Amino acid sequence: MTEAAHLGRRPAAPDQTTGRVLVVEDEPGIAGFVRRGLLFEGFTVEVATDGRTGLDAIRDNPPDIVVLDLMLPGLNGIELTRRVRAAERAERRVPLPILMLTARDAVPDRVTGLNAGADDYLVKPFAFDELLARIRALLRRLPPAADAARIGERLFFADLTLDLGSRTAARGERTIQLTTREFDLLALLLRHPNQVLPRSLLMDRIWGEDFFGDSNVLEVFVANLRRSLEAGGEPRLIQTVRGVGYVVRAAG
Ligand code: CA
Repeated sequence: MTEAAHLGRRPAAPDQTTGRVLVVEDEPGIAGFVRRGLLFEGFTVEVATDGRTGLDAIRDNPPDIVVLDLMLPGLNGIELTRRVRAAERAERRVPLPILMLTARDAVPDRVTGLNAGADDYLVKPFAFDELLARIRALLRRLPPAADAARIGERLFFADLTLDLGSRTAARGERTIQLTTREFDLLALLLRHPNQVLPRSLLMDRIWGEDFFGDSNVLEVFVANLRRSLEAGGEPRLIQTVRGVGYVVRAAG
């Protein structure tokens, strides 16, 4: 390569994350808009136009991420998410990142979606760049399969173990399946045991500066995390510090 050509070359884009995306959306206009945009960005895209077809596609040929409309004919997005998460728990698989698309102002729907196990949501109508940013953020959190350096790296607190390589959690002998963001949130708290982490810091680190959704999203995630972490009757480890944030420490 000549020096001129070298100098003229554009620097590598800061984020080249791509992958296989399954779009489950019954509105052809939105499905087409999302599909075209993602193809242009180098993603492989499959579209399912109803919930059952989407669920079949996830089972037959799991994508790297699902963009899932909430309101779908047949099986809706909430039910689909529940089934996917239940299967993952039963088979002890790494959870598939799910980005849910919801109608504007349907706040209860969003919380229900996150409760069902979605990792994030986007309110319609949305800008394509916003969708792309959310997809890339979720894909960057996938377990680094080829990253041998992280295999075996673990965080411990009391009877809780977090394996950063396999992205699995355990309390004692009990293995716990967590969604992508639940895992990230727990890892962040565990890196700072006995230290109160402010809500704003947690929101910023887990959802990014571009997050402008409901502030109760954090509460929903903490509640889900606690439910998973305490399902075997174990004592609470994530404590609320009212008006400030959360801390991992032994109760009492
Ligand atoms: Ca729909």
